Amino acid sequence: MDEFTLIRDYFSTPDFVRKDVIIGVGDDAAITQVPQGQYLATTTDTLLEGVHFLRQASADAIAHKAIAVNLSDLAAMGAEPAWINLSLSLPEVDNQWLELFSQKVQELTKYFSIQLIGGDTVKGKLAVTITAQGFVPPESVLTRVGAKPGDWLFVTGTLGDAAAGLDCLQNKLKLTDKSAQEYLVARHSFPTPRVLAGTTLRRLANACIDVSDGLMQDLQHILKGSNVGALLHLDKLPISKELGSSIPELQQALTYACTGGDDYELLFTIAEEHRVSMESAMASYNLPVTCIGQITGVSGKIDLRLNDQPFSFVSLEDRGYQHF
Ligand code: ADP
Ligand code: MG
Repeated sequence: MDEFTLIRDYFSTPDFVRKDVIIGVGDDAAITQVPQGQYLATTTDTLLEGVHFLRQASADAIAHKAIAVNLSDLAAMGAEPAWINLSLSLPEVDNQWLELFSQKVQELTKYFSIQLIGGDTVKGKLAVTITAQGFVPPESVLTRVGAKPGDWLFVTGTLGDAAAGLDCLQNKLKLTDKSAQEYLVARHSFPTPRVLAGTTLRRLANACIDVSDGLMQDLQHILKGSNVGALLHLDKLPISKELGSSIPELQQALTYACTGGDDYELLFTIAEEHRVSMESAMASYNLPVTCIGQITGVSGKIDLRLNDQPFSFVSLEDRGYQHF
């Protein structure tokens, strides 16, 4: 199969077509229309075998993760996703793999009302790069730099599941409760980008980031960017019942929640005056959020507390995923 047939068969006939796509896959470049008065948000993430997914990962899990991590970045900026570009490096043409992969792309683009508008296909080591673009009104952009002392620190969903799921897959963590294990593995392989939470936080949050490298590391990005510190209540961290019941030892569960990556939850700060409206908006969408601490004026410092007592174990602040 040549490159052009591959593109035509797997990536050129989307089920879902957006009106703002003037020219999609097939020409030398895509032509799209940004709504008047809105900013265009653009993000790119590459997934590599052995770094972002395991060799045995299925094609649909790879497609899911590649799209989810990019939509998560857009959500963290308060942007509503619109279009994606897909750059694929494949060691060979494996039709079964491509079928599974492209079906997942179609399923997710339809679900999120976004469109695949172009890409590139080359032969090489398996790698998937997605560029996602979306819109955000100028006054609604969320960044890492706006946190203020006194803001409440919130996180969506639960923390630590994906890292525990990865450890299960790698046999570093063995659980007797098989359904809990399945849940954690699914949270690793099929993370949920918090797209709706991101747009809900527009004009409400002062700062926002998605938790991809672990709570401690991503919180540090907000603290450094905003020149503030944080009080973090470890006993308040949202831990799923699957993780909590599988790992009775508090320290280990907390380590997953504090340093585990790949959860793709949103971590954000919010002024007291917006707290109630944020909580009721999130509740109306059934989006769980938890207050885990508060922003302080002590630049760069995370004060860990357990049941209101100062707490420390290993140097949590320095942990989390780093490529180099
Ligand atoms: P060119 O040589 O002009 O870059 P390509 O042969 O790379 O053109 O691509 C032809 C068309 O197919 C372009 O519109 C490109 O965006 C699209 N395309 C290529 N690979 C992919 C892919 N993996 N997914 C979606 N669209 C793709
Ligand atoms: Mg090309």
